[in-house]
Amino acid sequence: MRRIVIVGGGYAGFTAARELEKRLRRELRRGDVELVLVDPRPYMTYQPFLPEVVAGSVEARHAAVAHRRHLRRTRLVDGSVVRIDHADHAVVVRPRDGAPYRLHYDDVVVTAGAVTRVFPVPGVAGHTIGMKHVEEAVAIRDRLLTSFDRAAGLPRGPERERLLTVTFVGGGFSGVEGFAELLSLAHDLLRRYPEIDAGELAFHLVERGPRILPEVTERPGRWVVDQLRRRGAHVHLGTALESAEGGVVTLSSGESFPSGLLVWTAGNAANPFVATHTDLPVDARGYVVVRPDLRVGTDDAPVEGAWAAGDGAAVPDLAVPRAGALAVPNAQHAVRQGRRLARNLAAALRGRPTRPYVHGSLGVVATLGLGSGIFQYRRLVVRGLLAWLMHRGYHVLAIPTWERKARVLAVWLTAGVFGRDVVSLASVQTPRAAFTAATTPAEPTAPEEAADHAAAA
Ligand SMILES: Cc1cc2nc3c(=O)[nH]c(=O)nc-3n(C[C@H](O)[C@H](O)[C@H](O)COP(=O)(O)OP(=O)(O)OC[C@H]3O[C@@H](n4cnc5c(N)ncnc54)[C@H](O)[C@@H]3O)c2cc1C
Repeated sequence: MRRIVIVGGGYAGFTAARELEKRLRRELRRGDVELVLVDPRPYMTYQPFLPEVVAGSVEARHAAVAHRRHLRRTRLVDGSVVRIDHADHAVVVRPRDGAPYRLHYDDVVVTAGAVTRVFPVPGVAGHTIGMKHVEEAVAIRDRLLTSFDRAAGLPRGPERERLLTVTFVGGGFSGVEGFAELLSLAHDLLRRYPEIDAGELAFHLVERGPRILPEVTERPGRWVVDQLRRRGAHVHLGTALESAEGGVVTLSSGESFPSGLLVWTAGNAANPFVATHTDLPVDARGYVVVRPDLRVGTDDAPVEGAWAAGDGAAVPDLAVPRAGALAVPNAQHAVRQGRRLARNLAAALRGRPTRPYVHGSLGVVATLGLGSGIFQYRRLVVRGLLAWLMHRGYHVLAIPTWERKARVLAVWLTAGVFGRDVVSLASVQTPRAAFTAATTPAEPTAPEEAADHAAAA
């Protein structure tokens, strides 16, 4: 039996596994081929929906596409690959429980994606949260909602200011989308929190470069900045975060302020296990080197039995007429690379020729909060409501499986009638608290400890 091990079931890996199930149906049924997918998460995350999860416009669960439901002929392994020894045709799997073990393969598909790129800025490790995973998006939303609840009960002062201050570091696509969606949620919340004024909200977007959204051209990029500023946001361009020590943001401009919520969206870095724990060829940044047909290696030195795609691979972009151009790391590429990889792998197994991966960009589209967005395809730019509708339309069609599309659409339609949900479920982090409180005698409060409410306010 031939074993194909897929490392990582995100965009590229999940798509490759589904396509391989389709292409190798006969071989899988007869037991000639075994497909194995290793991932510590039991689902593929539809990351483009995370900004809408932050805003409460998409249910967190709906941005997760379950492997078990949609990969029926693939053996799923709950664990992380911590090493690939291609010389021995084996990966080392660290399962959730038990000791690491070697899993041998005939072919390996490396689709473990990238990780959040972090710079050594003091205080960042202890005070920031990323926005690459469902739990992070949920936590960002819950933190804002909890801050509103707490701020509403406090008199004006430094603590209330801190709670209503939000900082995003990194003005790329995910940062701008997350920031704009959270800002949109905050403005919506003001209707339900009469205790809080719009002027009390302090939303900061910090970008080291001279402009945000490098994926769009200069003018639309400027329009987005103007849009955000008109909605009360502080956009700091050409500014770096120098410290987040103690939750106090210090910028290279000299500005400094305590921030209740600090979100880090400063780009991608190679998955450390791929960069350093494999004998497969990687480039200077740690990305797996692949040929245009997504086989690992170069035209001169192809590596038999190894394939890679997605954000963790340096994939030649043949649609760009520039020598050495690499495909940009985005979902548009990852999903198509996953499909091309699977077709080429199946062709190679049958002794047929492989084809190069070629995909001309379909343009970029971003949400900027409820009812506003931006789309650019070459010189065509669409802004505002139409772009936002295009964003929703594109992504509801792009999320894999009809079941997910239907669920997302149902939430949007009900939100159109009833508005979005505005409760924080931060308490799910402490599920035993209510039970513990019920079984622990309450500490008595002396009458003199309770100040008069009017005096406190
Ligand atoms: C907030 C946000 C918004 C985005 N919006 C857009 C958008 O609008 N349009 C667009 O085109 N792109 C967008 N992207 C980018 C897009 O989501 C990524 O380019 C895409 O997910 C890359 O796919 P991938 O398969 O390479 O990696 P991923 O989808 O990240 O999958 C990697 C998988 O590998 C698994 N893994 C990691 N390490 C290991 C290991 N050691 N062993 C086993 N498994 C492992 C992970 O658990 C994960 O399941 C967005 C990204 C973010 C974060």
